[in-house]
Amino acid sequence: MNKEKVKLMQIEVCDTAKSMYHSGLVAGTWGNISARVDEDYMVITPSGMDYERLCAEEMVLVNMNTLEYEGGLKPSIESVVHAAVYKDRPEINGIMHTHSTYALTVATARKPIPPICDDQVQILGGEVRLAAYTMPGTEEMAREVVRALKERTGALLANHGAITVGRTLAEAYVGSQVLEKAAMVYINCQSIGGPVEISQEDIDFFHDFFMNKYGQR
Ligand SMILES: [Zn+2]
Repeated sequence: MNKEKVKLMQIEVCDTAKSMYHSGLVAGTWGNISARVDEDYMVITPSGMDYERLCAEEMVLVNMNTLEYEGGLKPSIESVVHAAVYKDRPEINGIMHTHSTYALTVATARKPIPPICDDQVQILGGEVRLAAYTMPGTEEMAREVVRALKERTGALLANHGAITVGRTLAEAYVGSQVLEKAAMVYINCQSIGGPVEISQEDIDFFHDFFMNKYGQR
């Protein structure tokens, strides 16, 4: 394992955790963030720590096969979910799990978010599915999240929150913001007759554009 890469990922995870905290997507010590180091290792936020006081060295290096970790701090209880997603999706390098208000509202109504916003379908790949209610940090939750994320980069967790994934952690962060906004728009639309969904043809076109052509590459 590349120690330099571990350090870089620790800095990125720590910085992103603080940004996430200040953006209001999480409250208190809830939510968690990780970045992949390689096939076997990830760096994840520690369990139950105050985001404002986190420092990079406290981000926990976890073996994704055994869930063994290095250092004195315990990793997030949802490490099992992050590890399962990285194992299932080789192209994914960053994961963000939030308990943001609007996403949690829709997740608590146990509904998916239909494909309604342009940026939602571009970045998240269409409808945001709902993972069934399961106990946090269990294999069962890991399986449900992997299922709900199939061919998507965002999912809701029933009565719990949301999860987004990306080719980079920065992309997962943008996904969390877009998912939260889509959830808010979905709720607001209920008061004016309900949203109109975007067609599958348009979803495919826009998602392909984002994945392959968007930006300065
Ligand atoms: Zn959670």
